[in-house]
Amino acid sequence: MISSNQQVLLPILAQKNVSLYLKREDLLHPFISGNKYRKLKYNLLAAQEGGYDTLLTFGGAYSNHIAATAFAGQENRLRTIGIIRGEELYQKWETNPTLKFAHQNGMQFKFVPRDVYRNKTDRQFLKALTSEFGSFYLLPEGGANLEAVQGCEEILNPEDARFQVLCSCVGTGGTLAGISNSAQAEQEVLGFPALKGDSRLPARQVLNQDIRKFAKKENWKLISGYDFGGYAKITTELVKFINSFKAETGIPLDPVYTGKMLFGIIDMVRKNRFQPGTAILAIHSGGLQGITGMNQKLKKKKLPLLDI
Ligand SMILES: *Cc1c(COP(=O)(O)O)cnc(C)c1O
Repeated sequence: MISSNQQVLLPILAQKNVSLYLKREDLLHPFISGNKYRKLKYNLLAAQEGGYDTLLTFGGAYSNHIAATAFAGQENRLRTIGIIRGEELYQKWETNPTLKFAHQNGMQFKFVPRDVYRNKTDRQFLKALTSEFGSFYLLPEGGANLEAVQGCEEILNPEDARFQVLCSCVGTGGTLAGISNSAQAEQEVLGFPALKGDSRLPARQVLNQDIRKFAKKENWKLISGYDFGGYAKITTELVKFINSFKAETGIPLDPVYTGKMLFGIIDMVRKNRFQPGTAILAIHSGGLQGITGMNQKLKKKKLPLLDI
């Protein structure tokens, strides 16, 4: 499956003579958005080939991966179990749009406190989960494994070789690794982490190491400074940027990943980080299901909302 590249037309891009295209992976599937579709593809095949009837995975309350896994499980007649971070959600998950959607698609939840959630890769913990739920195909948090990276290697197609710069959002970095692997060695692959890193250098080093496990080329690097305080953190400046980007280009962005990346790209264009004549392709990795949940949070804080 190939998604189309849409040119972004903004005065600042014309002024700096930089062309920017967005690969509309957000339009791949109505419910399994963007890179989650790519990351699930070979995992679903592996689960079916292994004879599993259950998928088990991990995520937070607004996780695109949780929503996507629930829907994909339903479509492929696999039972899905979500280990959800935050015990307190047990009382109120029905008011959370992501969890409600996942439940409507058959996902069974286990809510765990944050300190227990941290054991998500621990052998003993996984063994205990097997005793509780029976055998399952394990999708790691964020869906990042070899099969996921293999799927993300299919995002680019041969025509994309004409771009000098490729940009990807970064959570676990699985998507970035896939892009890097299928990019040309001379293309520059930039990753925009949506999680906090700067003030805690070790966290960023861990991310770099994780990506290196899957990325075979040296053509990529991480760009700091556009995480807006960390995962699912948002400011009024970012909300305004996402709203005006949509008004001016017609393209919706999500508040957790793609909004931060596009903010970063436009800021870098403004600061002359790209040579005149540069052609940039940024991957719109989806995530639009998260807008409703984010607006609930913004409303509670009496802050400006994202346009829908
Ligand atoms: C999950 C997600 C990402 C992060 O992908 P990784 O492969 O974990 O880095 C980026 N963008 C969107 C929209 C996502 O939902």
